[in-house]
Amino acid sequence: MTRVFIGIGSNVGDRQAYYEQAVRDLGMIHRTKLVRVSPVYETEPMGPVPQGKFLNAVAELTTELTAEQLLDKLELIQVSAGRPPQEQRVKWGPRTLDLDILLFGDQVICTDRLVVPHPMMHERWFVLKPLSDLDPNVVHPLL
Ligand code: AMP
Repeated sequence: MTRVFIGIGSNVGDRQAYYEQAVRDLGMIHRTKLVRVSPVYETEPMGPVPQGKFLNAVAELTTELTAEQLLDKLELIQVSAGRPPQEQRVKWGPRTLDLDILLFGDQVICTDRLVVPHPMMHERWFVLKPLSDLDPNVVHPLL
């Protein structure tokens, strides 16, 4: 079993509903258990594209899946929340639902599809605050 932290974000449409559906969907991934979710925070968007504020939270899971297998599941959940497939997305653009693997145990992964720990997580309050709500002693495997 690997302990995993997933970043959840939404800034389009009924953000609360997308967040709640995402939590339900995370709880239904096979060979995976949803342990708990952080409080939800409303945060300012970052980057060059003007857009609405986000709701952000972090979920803690345990899983028997590999990181790539879990990413496949997250992709399905995002598309079912109305997010366009990867190749049609606007970089830094608004999103009904964004799910990122922040930490996957203490694994360090760098492939075409997956960079773990998530490269910007240590610079983002909207990740660090809910993550530390869940576990203030969590250790970044590189920093
Ligand atoms: P975004 O549009 O920002 O959600 O980026 C999604 C893409 O980032 C996916 O196609 C993934 O292959 C890639 N990616 C790289 N590292 C990660 C990660 N740690 N968690 C989620 N997606 C990742």
